[in-house]
Amino acid sequence: MNAPAVLAPSVAAELAAIVGPAHLLTDEADLISYGYDGTWYESRPICVVLPGTTEEVRAIHRVAARERLAITPRAMGSGLSGGAVPLAGSIVLGVMRLGRILEIDEVNAVAVVQAGVITADLQKAVEARGFFYPPDPSSLKQSAIGGNVSENAGGARCLKYGVTADYVAALEVVLPGGELIRTGGKMVKNVTGYDLRALFTGAEGTLGTITEITLRLLRKPGFSKTATAAFASIEAAAATVVAVLNAGLLPTSIELMDRLTMQCIEEHRPSGLPVDAEALLLFAVDGNYEEIVDAELARVAEIARASGAFATRVAASAAESARLWEARRGISPALARKSPNKLGEDISVPRSELVATVRAIRAIAARNDLFIPIFGHAGDGNLHPNILCDRRDAVQMARVRIAAREIFEAAVAAGGTLSGEHGIGVLKKQFMELDLGTEAVALMRRIKDAVDPLGIMNPGKIFPDPGGPGAFVL
Ligand SMILES: Cc1cc2nc3c(=O)[nH]c(=O)nc-3n(C[C@H](O)[C@H](O)[C@H](O)COP(=O)(O)OP(=O)(O)OC[C@H]3O[C@@H](n4cnc5c(N)ncnc54)[C@H](O)[C@@H]3O)c2cc1C
Repeated sequence: MNAPAVLAPSVAAELAAIVGPAHLLTDEADLISYGYDGTWYESRPICVVLPGTTEEVRAIHRVAARERLAITPRAMGSGLSGGAVPLAGSIVLGVMRLGRILEIDEVNAVAVVQAGVITADLQKAVEARGFFYPPDPSSLKQSAIGGNVSENAGGARCLKYGVTADYVAALEVVLPGGELIRTGGKMVKNVTGYDLRALFTGAEGTLGTITEITLRLLRKPGFSKTATAAFASIEAAAATVVAVLNAGLLPTSIELMDRLTMQCIEEHRPSGLPVDAEALLLFAVDGNYEEIVDAELARVAEIARASGAFATRVAASAAESARLWEARRGISPALARKSPNKLGEDISVPRSELVATVRAIRAIAARNDLFIPIFGHAGDGNLHPNILCDRRDAVQMARVRIAAREIFEAAVAAGGTLSGEHGIGVLKKQFMELDLGTEAVALMRRIKDAVDPLGIMNPGKIFPDPGGPGAFVL
């Protein structure tokens, strides 16, 4: 696509007529603000449009298709792979005004929401009615359901409850040319035709704009309690994960923090974490009967001690439990204070490869003289090695690039993948073929071409640039 540098006045007038002049942003300050996400990438759109209805989204798409203008859908811009950062010349289509919870259907146990509803707000609203929406990205107060669905977001509760895709019952999607499709419904079973819900979930805005989502709900468990186990080695921590699961227990979460991560948290906001330990596992167990939750948590602690934990502790109160989970959610901000920049990775490996992968990352850190704290969802094998760095230091950044590649190679060699929950965006697109192979990526390109023949939906994302990194480089 030949992207224009500026918005033609006639197109600006047409977009302003669709969304109302107040919801078409063209000021320099706005263009800069909407050119970021949670990564360090930045780029400027030609304008930002903030539609208030699905019909407005359709009209914007029709104009964009006619004018061959690219659209980058954007929810809350908290993404960690550069997906919401517009390629130069794109329109940013922000869904934050589509912010209504349309229905909480208690009989069918579903919520129907617009794409801009904040994840934590939905959780609060359904919990007030005794229901439970389990997907819990740490960013739940900053991210929206449209972004969660488009990245297929995960979180600490995935071990027991699965990822966002497991809760998507139906989607309303505006296709690149402005056509509207609805896929799925409130029914429990549905195998009619290709599973288009699955296609658009995790598509990172490359196939269309999601406007409305029907989400499955569960009943809220009555009790949730927390325990920690401290280990002198990562091996003992990993052995505990397997032993707990093989004992027939299914904790809500098993989270891992290594010593470097705990040190960063304690420097930022002291939380009483055992910084003398090499690794800490944080467990949550939930259920409807307090005696069973207590018994299961006690058994988890017993197994951890038998597998080598030198200290275990069951949180004595809801306040202590909340403090531990606050510390867990505070890892990203704590790491962000430690160095001017950080490159957060999101590899996912089979549980059997957890130890070897942590060892490989430590060797990569030592070899490249980099500080790489490791934390993540140990129960899922989803690790977040964060490379702390300073982008102004060109020599260090050359080592960061090498380390990032080596981490991806280690994950793939272990039978794992580039991303467990943050998506590909621009950050990992050059490694897609390393992970999936050329044929699978070629098939994905054919699907993209079929849905978006003009190539106007979030261009520059997911697919590797031929001949090396194009518009975005690390
Ligand atoms: C501190 C912090 C902690 C985080 N923790 C987690 C975590 O635990 N688990 C996790 O999974 N992620 C986590 N993230 C990453 C991020 O919050 C998630 O990827 C989240 O799902 C993005 O939501 P968003 O609303 O900010 O989407 P955005 O960043 O705005 O968009 C993300 C992608 O979705 C596309 N998109 C957005 N809305 C639509 C739409 N309506 N239709 C089509 N495409 C759309 C965009 O084009 C982009 O490609 C974290 C981020 C931060 C900053």
